[in-house]
Amino acid sequence: MAFQLPPLPYANDALEPYIDTATMEIHHGRHHKAYVDNLNKAIAGTPLETLELVPLISNLAAVPDAIRGPVRNNGGGHWNHSFFWQLLGPGKGGTPSGALAEAIHAAFGDFDTFKTKFEAAGIGRFGSGWAWLLVSEGKLHIGSTPNQDNPLMGKEISGVVGHPILAVDVWEHAYYLRYQNKRADYLKAWWNVVNWDFVSSQFAAAR
Ligand code: MN
Repeated sequence: MAFQLPPLPYANDALEPYIDTATMEIHHGRHHKAYVDNLNKAIAGTPLETLELVPLISNLAAVPDAIRGPVRNNGGGHWNHSFFWQLLGPGKGGTPSGALAEAIHAAFGDFDTFKTKFEAAGIGRFGSGWAWLLVSEGKLHIGSTPNQDNPLMGKEISGVVGHPILAVDVWEHAYYLRYQNKRADYLKAWWNVVNWDFVSSQFAAAR
């Protein structure tokens, strides 16, 4: 069973004005679709075709040298974007509550300090990549990865440790049409569409 592009959980225009319709159409319909198509192409005719996505990208050492790069980039791209769409939603934003809010306060002092540090991780990622909020041993920390690498790939590959509960895409394709080179403005606007209920569910599962 080949991997498939999951439908967006909302309409392309649902995240306006923070993320524009054209960006969503291209980001989901072309960029994410290309990761899915290229992942399927890379593993076609190999025993890896029978694996689910998470086991596949969590054990890249088991992927043959010849296709490890394409599986890393496109498998990572497929997982990262599938996760990212669920983290967002129309009419969201605001602040987290409950156990997640407590953990953010414990790790960062207060919510605004957390936001500033998370934005800094996104701004500081040179070129293309992602910023992450991660859980390890019940505690929160922030990390970032280049390209389509992600924490599931392990520390040796991704450079970060922990279970991801929040992520932001800082590739230019995620923001360029509306924000051009102003990544910091995109990151500030992005908080308005974060679905904290979903992030909380990921935090509960990770603990
Ligand atoms: Mn992207």
